[in-house]
Amino acid sequence: MTEDMRSILKCVRCGTCRSVCPVFDVLGWESTGARGRMMVAHGVSQGLEVDKDVLDSLNTCTTCGMCKEMCPSGAAPTKVVENTRHQLVLQGKMTDAQKELRGNAIETGNPLGESAERMAWLGDSRKDVKDKADYVYFSGCLGSYRYPDLAKRTFDILKKFGVTVLKDEVCCGSPLLRTGSDPSELMEKNLDQIKEIGAHTIITGCAGCFSTLKNDYPEKLNVMHVSQFLAERLDEMDLKKLDLKVAYHDPCHLGRCNGVFDEPRQLITAVCELDEMENIREKSKCCGAGGGVLKGYPELALELSKKRAEDIPEGVDYLVTVCPLCRTNLQRGSGDIKVIDVLDLLEMAMV
Ligand code: SF4
Ligand code: SF4
Repeated sequence: MTEDMRSILKCVRCGTCRSVCPVFDVLGWESTGARGRMMVAHGVSQGLEVDKDVLDSLNTCTTCGMCKEMCPSGAAPTKVVENTRHQLVLQGKMTDAQKELRGNAIETGNPLGESAERMAWLGDSRKDVKDKADYVYFSGCLGSYRYPDLAKRTFDILKKFGVTVLKDEVCCGSPLLRTGSDPSELMEKNLDQIKEIGAHTIITGCAGCFSTLKNDYPEKLNVMHVSQFLAERLDEMDLKKLDLKVAYHDPCHLGRCNGVFDEPRQLITAVCELDEMENIREKSKCCGAGGGVLKGYPELALELSKKRAEDIPEGVDYLVTVCPLCRTNLQRGSGDIKVIDVLDLLEMAMV
């Protein structure tokens, strides 16, 4: 019996996951909650005809992991959803968004379909890229193409600690993996370069890259989020106190799924006041973008973002997060409140 079937059979249909699934909260159909998705996945394994409703049920999951966290039976609906997506993709049954993500990644090395030079963000820091190093900064697709200033700022801080980058970095594979496609070619390309550099640790500023590099690569890698790396080196950074009050959003794939809660908070409280949101740490609500939802169901992603924005305390200057995908979608739903990365905050505090 497969692990997924064991998970499906563990489900006693108690509905706990349904009550915490952010997507069910917005859409309200049984098939768009974790319990319903488990039943749909079971149906698919028994030969249920795959129509648009089945694809929508499985593909509106953000893979936030809240259902797994709360399930009293130890079932893992998130994995079941991801694996069922994969089974269907192998049969050619997928949404246009899944097809586009995959096509882009194969053609350009990133799911955005960007053909420009990925590492152009390095600018005048290109001279600081080394052939051999213990640490590599993995900038990610969003870092490289949507937040190039942030990627450069991050590298400019990290290079002082002997960190380099991959000269020919490609997507970590997360968008393909979460939406059912095979990311192994991308993974191999990154792995080969990591080995050539001789690095023992990969540092990333993205929750999706972090989780994928750490848990899903064919070889075990030592992976740190940039907040972890810098929290260990706070004493070596010259930072002043800022007269600001900020809230912090825990990205699902960094926090609940991988247990990194404290270090981003350590960086924030080193430079300003932190006013916590409602629903934090393991109970953090999803920003709404993950699992291909921002790409495939942008209106649903917007509603999820607005729901998360309801948890922001009044009177904060910024909402801070440590993942470019969360940042992008949270900004869509947070009205006038500016969403920034913790590295932006640190830059403001650099003496
Ligand atoms: S919480 Fe677990 S046991 Fe309960 S319905 Fe969801 S998957 Fe099934
Ligand atoms: S991973 Fe999140 S969005 Fe997906 S079924 Fe579970 S709770 Fe719902």
